[in-house]
Amino acid sequence: MPEDERGLARTVQEIREAVRRHTVRFERAIPLIASENLLSPYAKELLISDFHSRYAEGLPGERYYEGNEEVDRVERICLDLARRLFRCSFADVRPVSGTVANLAVLKALAEPGDLVGSTQLANGAHISSASFGAFGLRGVKPIHYAWDPERMTIDVPKTRAILLDARPKLCLFGLSLFLFPMPLEELRPTLEEIGARGWYDAAHVLGLIAGGEFQDPLREGCEVLSASTHKTLPGPQHGILLAETKDQAVEKRLASGAFPGVTSNHHLHTMAGLAVALAEHLAFGRAYASQTVRNARALAQALHERGFDVLAEPLGFTRSHTIAVRVAREGGGEAAARKLADAGIITNKNLLPGDTSSKHPGGVRLGTPEVTRVGMKEREMVRIAELFDDLLHKDRPAADVLAAAGELKSGFTTVQYCFGAGEAAYRYYDLVGRDP
Ligand SMILES: *Cc1c(COP(=O)(O)O)cnc(C)c1O
Repeated sequence: MPEDERGLARTVQEIREAVRRHTVRFERAIPLIASENLLSPYAKELLISDFHSRYAEGLPGERYYEGNEEVDRVERICLDLARRLFRCSFADVRPVSGTVANLAVLKALAEPGDLVGSTQLANGAHISSASFGAFGLRGVKPIHYAWDPERMTIDVPKTRAILLDARPKLCLFGLSLFLFPMPLEELRPTLEEIGARGWYDAAHVLGLIAGGEFQDPLREGCEVLSASTHKTLPGPQHGILLAETKDQAVEKRLASGAFPGVTSNHHLHTMAGLAVALAEHLAFGRAYASQTVRNARALAQALHERGFDVLAEPLGFTRSHTIAVRVAREGGGEAAARKLADAGIITNKNLLPGDTSSKHPGGVRLGTPEVTRVGMKEREMVRIAELFDDLLHKDRPAADVLAAAGELKSGFTTVQYCFGAGEAAYRYYDLVGRDP
């Protein structure tokens, strides 16, 4: 083998080893990132299927390539399942991520120079609504809603005044630090008065909405919904557009926003995995969503009892999968998140309302989608809170906490709330980064 080739073969092994180490690390970790989840076995196997190798531009039955018969069948099933799960007239599963879905909506329903209602980043919005993100790319200007930091949601009376004054034609609702439902019903008359269209970004809460555990935006005044499909909806990394509208032109514009607006091919393997995830969510989503929210509230309560400053205590901390903890006393967001990661507890530092520097977030964001997915319940949430307390308040060494976290996790390595969960001792972590 030439020297060059030997070196590259070593590089390939190095890549495989890195993924293997990563996988083992996560097998032993307590993952609390609010935007992450695990795939079911049947969804996961489709990601390495032949669908991955193919192109299918356009819609089922109207493709630009031959050979798409089974792709068309799967995509039709996927679209049917999506419309059924979300009880709506329109679905498009071609956006390849949540951000791409947002770009498709902006392409379809806004013009450069338009004003679009949105939440400020420091109050929990996603970067796609920032001028350095998708908003800026489409050339639209954000009009920021007023925020109520005590209740961690939009301040309705002040926002009404802002909207009546600025009169944006599109209003985006949805967050990445999403503790409580948006006041859609309360703002609906104002949107109607100014002729603005409601647009809901459900990236974080899609699985909760489908499971009946959060608000139902398509019935509360939002005509259009965009989302990622891999956060509380435990599907593959992908995006989705949904709409409940009597206006056929809106459906047409959304479809052409997706293709050719922001995609050419649309990642057929993840579309197929999404179809499985949607079917499994129809079967198990209510139980999963309900346990996910109960776990978040149990974790918040247990942390609060151990002296942590969990936001929105008077409101019961959260009504979603997410909680926010101000960690000034524990050294700030960056130091706390790093310390936790060294002890096997994976979180992220997060800006909280009132933070004065975007470089020094005052909190950590915690989420329960993944720990719930592997079968943890309230009892394990208390154990996790004890590990936080040991590490951040009682100075127990990180190595000890790491071992305790691994011990706790060792009983939870199979994915639940899906078909095939009990088959052949299926272990989520066996499928990647290991020799076949
Ligand atoms: C995660 C997120 C997105 C983007 O999702 P990707 O799939 O990562 O592109 C969009 N909006 C909100 C509110 C999010 O939290």
